[in-house]
Amino acid sequence: MFLLFGTRASHALLSVVTFVCGFCGQNVAQQVVKSVNRFTLFFVPLFPVSTRYFVECSNCGGTTSLTKAQADNSIAYAQGQRHV
Ligand SMILES: [Zn+2]
Repeated sequence: MFLLFGTRASHALLSVVTFVCGFCGQNVAQQVVKSVNRFTLFFVPLFPVSTRYFVECSNCGGTTSLTKAQADNSIAYAQGQRHV
């Protein structure tokens, strides 16, 4: 019996917010990303194993982990920025 299984991560861009990066100190766009790790069988994603959120600096590429609540807040924050 030949079984091929593993995990595969997929990234989804949730929102883009602009604030001063903690790594490079520049006030640039930060991408809020949702990363879902899925269990795969024969390369077919079956179910999510883990979900994490992080923010990535568009200038230096530095990443900071976020909680789901922080990621949700960033979406609301980004929408608020767009209307101003
Ligand atoms: Zn940065």
